[in-house]
Amino acid sequence: MEGTAAMIPREIIDEIVYRSDIEQVIGSYVTLKRAGSNFNGLCPFHNEKTPSFTVFPATKSFYCFGCGAGGDVISFIMREENLDYREAVEFLAAKAGISIPEDNDLPDKNEVPRKRIYEMNLAAAKFFRECLFDDTLGAEAMKYLHEDRKLSMTTIKRFGLGFSPNNAWLLTNHMHRLGFTDEELVAGFLCGKSQKSGKTYDYYRNRVIFPIIDTSGNIVAFGGRVMDDSKPKYLNTSDTPAFKKSRHLFALNFAKKHCEEQMMLCEGYMDVIALHAAGFENAVATLGTAITSEQARIFAKYTKKVIICYDADNAGQTAANKAMKLLGEVGVEVRILKLAGAKDPDEYIKKFGADSFKKVLGESKTGFEFKLDKILASRDIQIAEEKIKAAAEVSELISDTYSVVERDIYIRRASEVLGVSPDAMKSDVERIRRKKDRERKNKESSDALLGAKHIGDRVNNDAAKNIRANAAEEGLLGLLLIFEEYRKEAARDSSIISAEDFTTSLGRKIFEVIIGLENSEQGYSSALLSQFFTLDELGRIQKIERDRRNLARNDRDVFLEFAENVKKEKLQSASAGSLADEIAKKRELLKKAKEKNKNT
Ligand SMILES: [Zn+2]
Repeated sequence: MEGTAAMIPREIIDEIVYRSDIEQVIGSYVTLKRAGSNFNGLCPFHNEKTPSFTVFPATKSFYCFGCGAGGDVISFIMREENLDYREAVEFLAAKAGISIPEDNDLPDKNEVPRKRIYEMNLAAAKFFRECLFDDTLGAEAMKYLHEDRKLSMTTIKRFGLGFSPNNAWLLTNHMHRLGFTDEELVAGFLCGKSQKSGKTYDYYRNRVIFPIIDTSGNIVAFGGRVMDDSKPKYLNTSDTPAFKKSRHLFALNFAKKHCEEQMMLCEGYMDVIALHAAGFENAVATLGTAITSEQARIFAKYTKKVIICYDADNAGQTAANKAMKLLGEVGVEVRILKLAGAKDPDEYIKKFGADSFKKVLGESKTGFEFKLDKILASRDIQIAEEKIKAAAEVSELISDTYSVVERDIYIRRASEVLGVSPDAMKSDVERIRRKKDRERKNKESSDALLGAKHIGDRVNNDAAKNIRANAAEEGLLGLLLIFEEYRKEAARDSSIISAEDFTTSLGRKIFEVIIGLENSEQGYSSALLSQFFTLDELGRIQKIERDRRNLARNDRDVFLEFAENVKKEKLQSASAGSLADEIAKKRELLKKAKEKNKNT
């Protein structure tokens, strides 16, 4: 089965889950309070003020009634620590003092193992570096880095920078000589493969190379930048078995030692390198994409405060807004750097020096000030009408602040700038807050209604169109997840139920994984599920199981009845499809007949 590349024997995984006390593991991240036989706390995966996150020691699971995150101790660690399935298992194993045998490190047939990718990347990084330091091959790239970008030799070496010459097979041939196969090179995104000839070729050509190094010191990916204005400016490794773009930050391997108080988030590799060279070693960057919520959680793990150092242009400021929101959601204090006289930190430091930059850094603005400035810049408050609009926008902005003290400070500050009375502004803000509160409550109750009808269900897209089918599928899957005897029966006898009987694709997928595991050599264990599903899907599976557990009747008749209903709904949705086709055909014929009549 695809992905069973867990490669860790099932007994060991079960042992790890058994020995990892879920309330203790989760309790080390979330403050839990006992509530009956369960524990409650504030959800670490969404922003909330009243606890809807629950840990169920009896079933060794957790579920958030607010955002739908859920699963077992493995999927909790996957979410919280940004790890993949195998890494999460290893993480828990280390905590529980269980060792995972090495010889099980064999890869799946189709997947290049992580370690092999690291070896390959290390060899490639050495090759790129040699090219950069080669007097002929690397002359232009070295001039670009050293003279144009003013990087010292120490910095170039510290970041392991390199150069990929403008040649389609130089790296490919070199790697072949070292024993790496085409499959491995393509899987690691060092090579592309020609559709026509099937020949592999160098992925990076005529680019300065930035190795991306994880916090354990492995080279997990590369970024390549052109030296002129050609496009694309940056080329990055796509996701590989060893690398997920959304889970890494450039230079975190260095920054992690200097980030307790604050970190800096930059737009590009060059900014980060320039900042490190100037002594600001807490700077990192995302890898050619906007910041993700996973990366926001990495920041939350390492630091209390993030200064966003994005470009002064519009794109940079829009990106800053998004970063501010995501970082705010994970509870990190956010500041925004405002640079005058330079477009980015790199240029600023070159023009005005590190000391001056340090001073501007100290003057970086809070999210509120940043937004207040934006409003003021867009309105001419000398004109009464414009001033009223600005005041309304500012009140709206302040109304989103949770803390009363903060609101009070902002109101004073804004009323001063705008020249309006603080009392008037305060009553405006409170009025907006009451209105938003009503809207939120209304939305919550309509969301609950929509949720029951699965409208806007992002995890299971097919559910809204097939409410009855989905209900039957969830009932059946709940039973299969909980009861071994039903699982065994379904796996043995496909006349009771088979994958084709499912209407929704998520339902089918869950069924296939359960039965696939049941029929596999290692057998079924709920601890193995997390490797096959996205985190959102795991939350849904947790809900399906929980909903089922809460019901009194779960005997074999119920099981058979659900199976029958799943089949019946599938047949109906199939015939509904053909019926719709038939009606459409008849309409078409009728239309043609009418036209024919007209013409004659
Ligand atoms: Zn939640």
